[in-house]
Amino acid sequence: MKQMLCSNCGNRVFFENLTCETCGSTLGYAPDEQLMLAFEVSGEDVWRRLGKPGAEYKSCVNRKTGVCNWVLPTASVHQHCVSCRTTHTIPELSKPENQRYWAALEQAKRRLFYTLIELVLPTPNKLEDPANGLSFEFLEQVDPQRRVLTGHDDGVITLNIAEADDARREHIRLAMHEPYRTLLGHFRHEIGHYFWDRLVRDTPWIDEYRSLFGDERADYSEALKKYYASPVADWPQRFISVYASSHPWEDWAETWAHYLHMIDGLETAAAWGTRLDLALPCGPPLSVQKLDLKAQSIRNAVVEQWLPVSQFINAMDRSLGAHDSYPFIVVPPVIEKLDFIHRVVSAGSSGSVPMNFLPRRGT
Ligand SMILES: [Zn+2]
Ligand SMILES: [Zn+2]
Ligand SMILES: [Zn+2]
Repeated sequence: MKQMLCSNCGNRVFFENLTCETCGSTLGYAPDEQLMLAFEVSGEDVWRRLGKPGAEYKSCVNRKTGVCNWVLPTASVHQHCVSCRTTHTIPELSKPENQRYWAALEQAKRRLFYTLIELVLPTPNKLEDPANGLSFEFLEQVDPQRRVLTGHDDGVITLNIAEADDARREHIRLAMHEPYRTLLGHFRHEIGHYFWDRLVRDTPWIDEYRSLFGDERADYSEALKKYYASPVADWPQRFISVYASSHPWEDWAETWAHYLHMIDGLETAAAWGTRLDLALPCGPPLSVQKLDLKAQSIRNAVVEQWLPVSQFINAMDRSLGAHDSYPFIVVPPVIEKLDFIHRVVSAGSSGSVPMNFLPRRGT
């Protein structure tokens, strides 16, 4: 992510801030402009941008419930920001912890949306595009017999709100022997399934997809059963995670999540002016660059930029007594898959290969 600066005083703020700690201004993030703006707020929810007469905004209505800091132009017909508009179901808020979980989920989702906006990928909700839109269901498991599973089904992304509880999420991570489990990681994985439908299904990419990831027509539940019984032993040579080896759809979603991790990670490192003089023990110095979203290929960027940056982050984690933030080994077949995802996304967002956003034939 780029550095966020208060538009009033120019000091650094975080993407999640509601006010500027330095000048005290009310802050709101304007997704269309990708800027953190400072406001003078008057009654009737009119937000006047400081230093820019005439620029008026309104807050996303979820700000009132403490879960959102995004703003919209006053002329917008919407009351919710582009991210909150995709949330269809929220948990029962009479329980105070559910309010906290919902806020944590929306916060992670806005980080996902930040990157999707950069990638120029559309995110209509199901009201705007019933056939191809998105809908998030944040559900609490109330009946032990009816498990709430995190997953994607035809644009509907379900998350068990227990994932927003650090202790419970860590418990699941250990029980599942996973090296990494975060809310943002869930969002980036599940949206990968959604964009497979939008960018690969029934498109000219399908043959190359199958040659890299395998044939997704393989029976999904059989594949998962086989995976849970005994995952393939040589997965580290071909996949980014053991779960990616369960089915070609999961491989796509896992690798897609890493594409988004890499875009955001490199952008953050570049935005801080990161330079690693000893990126390789005897190699040239590395000035970290943001991933070029229009590049023909990202193979070199993965090897020369992302690998040293992620290794540096892990080294820092260990110096601070924390777990590795990026406990993954990116092998050459995974680099080929990342490069494919990059080409698919840039062709989709530039319009050179149409995305599946029009109503499907026959439906
Ligand atoms: Zn300020
Ligand atoms: Zn919002
Ligand atoms: Zn999945």
